Amino acid sequence: MSERTQVAIVGAGPAGLLLGALLHRHGLESVILEARSREYIEARIRAGVLEQGTVDVLREVGVGERMDREGLVHSGIYLRFDGSSHHIPMSELTGGRSVMIYGQTEIVKDLVAHRLQTGMPLRFECHAVTVDRLSSDQPVVRYSQGGTDHELECNIIAGCDGFHGVCRGAIPADVLHVWEREYPFAWLGILADVGPSTDELIYAQHEQGFALHSMRSLKVSRLYIQVEPDDDIANWSDQRVWDQLHARLASEGWELNEGPVLEKSITPMRSFVAEPMRYGSLFLAGDAAHIVPPTGAKGLNLAVADVTMLGEGLVEYFGSGSDAGLQEYSDRCLRRVWRAQHFSWFMTTMLHTNPRDDDYGRRLQRSQLDYVCSSQAAAASLAENYVGLPLTRASATALGNG
Ligand SMILES: Cc1cc2nc3c(=O)[nH]c(=O)nc-3n(C[C@H](O)[C@H](O)[C@H](O)COP(=O)(O)OP(=O)(O)OC[C@H]3O[C@@H](n4cnc5c(N)ncnc54)[C@H](O)[C@@H]3O)c2cc1C
Repeated sequence: MSERTQVAIVGAGPAGLLLGALLHRHGLESVILEARSREYIEARIRAGVLEQGTVDVLREVGVGERMDREGLVHSGIYLRFDGSSHHIPMSELTGGRSVMIYGQTEIVKDLVAHRLQTGMPLRFECHAVTVDRLSSDQPVVRYSQGGTDHELECNIIAGCDGFHGVCRGAIPADVLHVWEREYPFAWLGILADVGPSTDELIYAQHEQGFALHSMRSLKVSRLYIQVEPDDDIANWSDQRVWDQLHARLASEGWELNEGPVLEKSITPMRSFVAEPMRYGSLFLAGDAAHIVPPTGAKGLNLAVADVTMLGEGLVEYFGSGSDAGLQEYSDRCLRRVWRAQHFSWFMTTMLHTNPRDDDYGRRLQRSQLDYVCSSQAAAASLAENYVGLPLTRASATALGNG
């Protein structure tokens, strides 16, 4: 079976689905191919903190309505250590910018519904996906679905197939450069059927390990604790997780509400960047090109930033024939990616208990925490990175980040 489109999008995570919506908004054709089922991708529990720029893009493509109704706008975070809480007033420090708490799962549901409503192709359970003829302007994606082999010809392939996808591997090894760092810890996360015990997220540094009190709505809490990288989820009964959360988040006069655990999993922590993000007619976006440890809440937001820039370049290319936006795509994304890499590493090292650290390292960590909680300049830098640097070409350039 053979077919043709302008942009073949591999992967229906937030990056692929949003790119499809951005292209459709400008009258461009795309076909999205996803390895998993609709039920699977709509149930995957992942990120939940949206930068202002991410919120703006979701509204712009017409999928912001439920987010605006159900999402929670947060204007600050708490850093907690030695049993004391310190508020970082992000909006005050960034000229009014804020973040939105709204689950990635909900964004995926909204984007899938929007795609199906537009009638544009979104194919689930596509197997044996390969990308070919990348050095030409007639690349092809081959895949099999329901026992039939398919060939999708296109002008551009968007590799939005996540860290374990096939697109990055199609770039020749002598072209692709990879930077990677593994951390000596992982996050155990639970989704709990109980209202949050806090109005804004609490990031806690504790000698037994990091803990985070996040949330997904006014009725559902998301909580994390630092565990060993090779720990087994079977070692962690719900009660053991709650006991650790009580210990690490403890603060005088503050209570943590417990509730039934709806989901429990362990995520390894890794930093990873692949360069360049473009090879011929293949463009990588999102986790296919980079991974950050989740402490800075940047993974999903970077994926959105990538496809926003790719969407701009493609609209220009198919509209006026200019490939200027596509030419600068990789460099422009990577400047933002490396900023987010640094911020995620900074938050991770400031807040986790590193078993390899010596006393000197622990004193440096404490000094950094004291500094961001006592200096307006240090807090403003954290806040500016947390709410996210602007996405647009003009304002990003003004910040030296575009
Ligand atoms: C368990 C977990 C927890 C996370 N928690 C956080 C968090 O708290 N905060 C945060 O900011 N970030 C978090 N992240 C990161 C964030 O979720 C990702 O950065 C985000 O999902 C990136 O979106 P994406 O579309 O690039 O990739 P993905 O969401 O991974 O989507 C890629 C899609 O491609 C599909 N695919 C893969 N291979 C193929 C193929 N060969 N053919 C077709 N389709 C394919 C996959 O099934 C998937 O649907 C978490 C990630 C994980 C794994």
